[in-house]
Amino acid sequence: MKEIYLDNNATTRVADEVFEEMLPFLREQYGNPSSMHAFGGRVGRAVSLARERAAAALGCVPTEIVFTSCGTESDNTAINSALTARPEKRHVVTTKVEHPAVLSYCKNLEGKGFDVTYLGVDREGLLDLDELRDALRDDTAVVSVMYANNETGVLFPIPEIGAICRERGVPLHTDAVQAVGKIPIDLSTLPVDYLALSGHKLHAPKGVGALYVRKGTPFRPFLIGGHQERGRRAGTENTASIAALGKALELAAAGVGHENTAVRALRDRLENGLLAAVPDCRLNGAREPRLPNTSNISFKYVEGEAILLMLDQFGICASSGSACTSGSLEPSHVLRALGVPFTFAHGSIRFSLSRYTTQAEIDAVLAELPRIIERLRVLSPFKKGGPEPLDEKPPCTC
Ligand SMILES: *Cc1c(COP(=O)(O)O)cnc(C)c1O
Repeated sequence: MKEIYLDNNATTRVADEVFEEMLPFLREQYGNPSSMHAFGGRVGRAVSLARERAAAALGCVPTEIVFTSCGTESDNTAINSALTARPEKRHVVTTKVEHPAVLSYCKNLEGKGFDVTYLGVDREGLLDLDELRDALRDDTAVVSVMYANNETGVLFPIPEIGAICRERGVPLHTDAVQAVGKIPIDLSTLPVDYLALSGHKLHAPKGVGALYVRKGTPFRPFLIGGHQERGRRAGTENTASIAALGKALELAAAGVGHENTAVRALRDRLENGLLAAVPDCRLNGAREPRLPNTSNISFKYVEGEAILLMLDQFGICASSGSACTSGSLEPSHVLRALGVPFTFAHGSIRFSLSRYTTQAEIDAVLAELPRIIERLRVLSPFKKGGPEPLDEKPPCTC
């Protein structure tokens, strides 16, 4: 059985063209790009080409791109950089719905005596920009707001947020790991100072990412050592993966149109089909503005884990918005921030498509999932018309 992979916000398959791009650097072209000899220099030119491709895809100049080991490193580096460059500023503004790469880093900063403001979202998952404006202080070192939410796909208005930050002279970092390749991004007009992206979310391999740093923005390296990346990120370059990322970004920029037509149409087919076929289900987060590939749907009275296990039997890969921790099912921090009621939050499933998703795959999900939900509801202790469970942590049955 061939799996139906609808978990592309977790990770993606490496594109064939990207794989081909890597091979020389895993075999014969193993030189160190920093070496003086021509053998290393050839590899150095491949790294330069990747940087040029990345810059062309994002609308910036190559020297503004720093290659890193992942999206997490890019996020950590941006925030750390802003704080380290201006040590008198000890305040960070972010949101409650960030990926752990930003959220956990900020929690960690609080433990070190920094001050962090976490902006909430409304029921649609959207920010109140007046609240953001009010949160900015004279000692705010950086604002870190994600471009697209990995769980719901909801987009934040980064152009407007950037304009607000500019007015106050505060640098803006955006975690664009889920946005790159799915919506158009043009850094020549987008008012952001740092932007993080990750290879494995856009059909390059795991373990490579990039951080855009606008020219003139204060920067301090996170990894300290050799002079690689013009002294901005020490460590011998992961040449094969950097070449891969360059190629993947070129493909991503060329594929944004396809994402917003073909992929969006398949996502809508899945979403509308499920909402019509299954009673008591709802979409989590705003319908628009949203990534074209993501759909987060809650099925009332059932647990996400149970749905995933049943889907798995049909080879269907998706993910759920709750994690079983210490014997209780904890709904995701994102769905909680949206105020999704517990009875819905527990049965939430995220479907995330890619350019490789086919209509036959979507139709297979539409054929199986309504039956799965029906069967699980028969077994559920919570039934329609029965007593409503309290809106607090229910016991875990997994
Ligand atoms: C996956 C993801 C990250 C982390 O990227 P890694 O390369 O896995 O470290 C950060 N932010 C968002 C929004 C993500 O989806």
